[in-house]
Amino acid sequence: MKLMSGKKGLVMGIANEMSLAWGIAKKLAEQGVEMAFSYQSEALYRRIKPLADSIGDIPLLECDVTNEESLKELFSKLKERFNQIDFIVHAIAFSDRNELTGKYVNTSRSNFTKTMEISCYSLTAVCRHAWDFLSDGASILTLTYLGAERVMPNYNVMGVAKAALEASVKYLAVDFGDRNIRINGLSAGPVKTLASSGIGDFKYILNWNCENSPLKRNTTLADVGGSALFLLSALSSGITGEIVHVDSGYHVVGMKSVKP
Ligand code: NAD
Repeated sequence: MKLMSGKKGLVMGIANEMSLAWGIAKKLAEQGVEMAFSYQSEALYRRIKPLADSIGDIPLLECDVTNEESLKELFSKLKERFNQIDFIVHAIAFSDRNELTGKYVNTSRSNFTKTMEISCYSLTAVCRHAWDFLSDGASILTLTYLGAERVMPNYNVMGVAKAALEASVKYLAVDFGDRNIRINGLSAGPVKTLASSGIGDFKYILNWNCENSPLKRNTTLADVGGSALFLLSALSSGITGEIVHVDSGYHVVGMKSVKP
């Protein structure tokens, strides 16, 4: 019997084979889930179709989380396929790369709002749209980073959005708790992806993590997938409102500033 046999769910945020959401989807597929992927725009469809086909019969549904109609349509299409869902993976973030470098104080009003909307508010919006559709025992997972808790060079407004995202996890955990629905955040160590490539001096952050994290290596998609599987499965049935760190360098202080 596989760990997630009979479980159904939604994975949001695969852009390509380097995406953390893809690492999670692969682990879930090994454990017998039925799932759908949502993707941001037509441009990404071509990239994720072959990935989806490599692990099964996976419906691909377009959804831009800044658009309420798009979210509504996503969940109405999901309902045509599944009666209920048992998990959601939210692996979505965005900020203007021009502001993921230099000083946080220079963050523009428009990019602050956009970053918060996509990287933080979208989780709450997804949870609201999914409210009636989640099974007893369902588990929701979002992806976060240490920059929510500590100042990381160049992470800037994304750190502020992740701090708000982590607070949202706690509030949502209470909203959903009496229905036996859990929600947690996975704080992954740095991994080279489309999104992370936009962060200034990301290579430095990768190297720092490799040298300073307890395991003395960089986080892999398999690390992220394995921890996500635990948090999405009944193995973690008593855990909610938590942020779980995956070799993020959390225990070590003292990152030197990149540029004076
Ligand atoms: P990625 O670029 O593969 O994924 C980001 C996803 O966000 C993309 O699929 C993109 O299409 C989606 N997205 C952006 N705007 C959207 C919108 N308006 N509507 C719908 N989708 C939208 O990069 P990733 O690194 O795998 O990022 C996934 C999550 O993991 C993010 O929340 C990121 O902050 C988090 N994270 C990443 C790292 C890392 O080092 N890569 C570490 C910790 C946490």
